[in-house]
Amino acid sequence: MSQGVHAYVGLGANLGDAAASVRSAIQLLSELPDTRLVRCSSLYRSAPIDATGDDFVNAAVQLDTTLDAHQLLRELQRIELDFGRARPFRNAPRTLDLDLLVFGQSIIQDSALEVPHPRMGNRAFVLLPLHELNPHLAIPGLGQIEPLLAHVRDQPIEKLISVL
Ligand code: AMP
Repeated sequence: MSQGVHAYVGLGANLGDAAASVRSAIQLLSELPDTRLVRCSSLYRSAPIDATGDDFVNAAVQLDTTLDAHQLLRELQRIELDFGRARPFRNAPRTLDLDLLVFGQSIIQDSALEVPHPRMGNRAFVLLPLHELNPHLAIPGLGQIEPLLAHVRDQPIEKLISVL
């Protein structure tokens, strides 16, 4: 397989054993076709934003993939379904949420997919793990990740443990 595109995926869970869900989701991401898991962030704990329930466990991974962005999104959605994600109401607590954050230099806005993820620039639980993966990341439309961190400094989040 050629190296493909550098893609970044955010993971979050706040139901059941959330850390275990995030860890097994990372394992499933490492088994995706035409895709290589390059790097995992630590696990983080964050207070819910736009959601209800317990604190979230969050992480991010870098994947190199020759899937296109929509194929990768469908794989992420399949993994979410495998985790029995139920959506009884908007922003309900969730077993597992996988977001395609960045897909190389692509900017995509269609009915199924928005990349870079539209809310990533103002969420500490996305930016901190992403910054850990690549402190020099340039996010299309948003610029360098480093200065974005200042905007989320007051959002409660703590690093738990290294995934690996
Ligand atoms: P959520 O409940 O936040 O996981 O949103 C899921 C919905 O967002 C699905 O219908 C996806 O098609 C859509 N979506 C749009 N852009 C993205 C993205 N970058 N990553 C994940 N889901 C996305």
